[in-house]
Amino acid sequence: MPELPEVETIARTIAPHVTGRIISAAEVRWARTIASPTARKFAGQVKGQRIIGVSRRAKYLILQLEDYNLLIHLRMSGDLMVRMGKIKAEKHDRLLLALRAEDGRQSHLAFNDTRKFGRVWLTDQPETVLGSLGPEPLGRDFTPQWLYENLRKRRRQLKPLLLDQTFLAGVGNIYADESLHKAKLHPLGLSNSVTKKQAEALHEAIRSVLREGIRRNGASIDWVYRGGEYQNYFRVYDREGKPCPVCGTGIQKLTVGQRGTHICPKCQVIERK
Ligand SMILES: [Zn+2]
Repeated sequence: MPELPEVETIARTIAPHVTGRIISAAEVRWARTIASPTARKFAGQVKGQRIIGVSRRAKYLILQLEDYNLLIHLRMSGDLMVRMGKIKAEKHDRLLLALRAEDGRQSHLAFNDTRKFGRVWLTDQPETVLGSLGPEPLGRDFTPQWLYENLRKRRRQLKPLLLDQTFLAGVGNIYADESLHKAKLHPLGLSNSVTKKQAEALHEAIRSVLREGIRRNGASIDWVYRGGEYQNYFRVYDREGKPCPVCGTGIQKLTVGQRGTHICPKCQVIERK
């Protein structure tokens, strides 16, 4: 599933090719892709809107239109691509937006989604979709002090808490495992037992793995997301049995909250108090 660095990379990749274009038509090929409004209303409302800019919040991609925000969550297998010329649907395309440039050139933005879990919202009130999200891990509100206080306020296992988008937005399975290893914290450790030093280390680890992920255009670990190379730099994720980059111990795979979780059993120990 694309996480913050992958969605950020997609946003940066498509931005120069869609910004300033006018959406001249929409073709909804799988109605349930449109979470809100109805597919029919969507096509009518989006038509004629100019794309002002492209941004990201958590794992949502945001196209700012003149009167609306178009929010896209890629979920398991969604991808966005700009293709030249008139709309021409390809296999697994769920939504196509015809784009017209100032000089009349035509292109289209395709939302392709094999597994059909991806969702799109067209709304003039983006907070109705994004309002419950926690802070952006690379944003100003996410400070070591904030993390320390908010870990201590809760009594939850660290990994499920990091994956909780209402706690912190944009971190998923890969970057949670990488961050916890870097900070030398066990995914089953309890949030309220974290010391100030550990919270600072976790803050630094989350930011640095996300930044490195973005620098390497994200991680390509499945057939959907392409072009990233962070998978070649994983510390623990998907490295069961291979040596820990810090101490050489074999990486172990556990299941935490139904998610495959990778740790170094020597670097990441639970402290009992
Ligand atoms: Zn280790």
